[in-house]
Amino acid sequence: MPRLAYVNGRYLPHGAATVHIEDRGYQFADGVYEVVPVFNTILVDEDMHLDRLDRSLSELRIPQPLSRPALKLICRELIRRNGLTNGILYMQVTRGVAPRDHKFPKKSKPALVLTTKQMKPHSEALLRQGLKVVTLPDQRWARCDIKSVSLLPNVLGKQAATEAGAYEAWQVDREGMVTEGTSTNAWIVTDGNRVVTRDATNAILNGITRLTLLDLIRAEGYALEERSFSVDEAKAAREAFITSSTSFVLPVTQIDGQPVGNGHPGILTGKLRQHYVDYMQSLRQSA
Ligand code: PMP
Repeated sequence: MPRLAYVNGRYLPHGAATVHIEDRGYQFADGVYEVVPVFNTILVDEDMHLDRLDRSLSELRIPQPLSRPALKLICRELIRRNGLTNGILYMQVTRGVAPRDHKFPKKSKPALVLTTKQMKPHSEALLRQGLKVVTLPDQRWARCDIKSVSLLPNVLGKQAATEAGAYEAWQVDREGMVTEGTSTNAWIVTDGNRVVTRDATNAILNGITRLTLLDLIRAEGYALEERSFSVDEAKAAREAFITSSTSFVLPVTQIDGQPVGNGHPGILTGKLRQHYVDYMQSLRQSA
């Protein structure tokens, strides 16, 4: 089955799917994106992702490319045509194609691109061992709440993590507090078994996995604090983990070379991952 991409109204072979060289996403990173998990062919938390897409677009004053029902139809069609069962749907909207000039063009049509990617389940080894993170200064702009395709600090951070033999980099603000990973939200569990994650301000992307897990944590009655935590607090924590549309919930067992807790994935982290997977399994496709 050839892999297809959706580009401005057309389904094209993935390898031949292109945008114009004067697309403002290409020249200015003037665009936004979403990554929606696909689990057993179902788009997980689709409306929450589309709400966040609308918000990102409106913060940047980029018009919506399509109505929500039309966009949903195309998402389902691309998943169907690509035979996607488990993986992600990637959506990108830019301000469109116009002669290069920083200010908004008088006339342009937002450009919409959708792709899908099949993904393997997380390996048993990763779940058993947990993953390593390193910390580094947060070098990003003041609107990390917008899911912009301008990801250079995130790219550099993930590369630094990879070169240090780690899976993720936790970015740290000027006060020494962890903001988030380069593509994941950051969480710890305190000695008192309280789950802590940074409150959703402009300093972080309010992850959809984060929001759903917060609901599950509240529903299960676990103690929860939405607040900043320092690198020192994270290193002294009982457990740590990350969340994202591709990670779900993954245990962190080392920060800057120091073991977290007993150095093994946390018990509560494992329970929260299971709650999240159970939640995905319970979903049925919405209209
Ligand atoms: N923070 C950043 C910087 C991200 O890029 C992502 C992933 N898009 C997340 C957090 C997690 O968000 P989500 O749960 O919506 O995937």
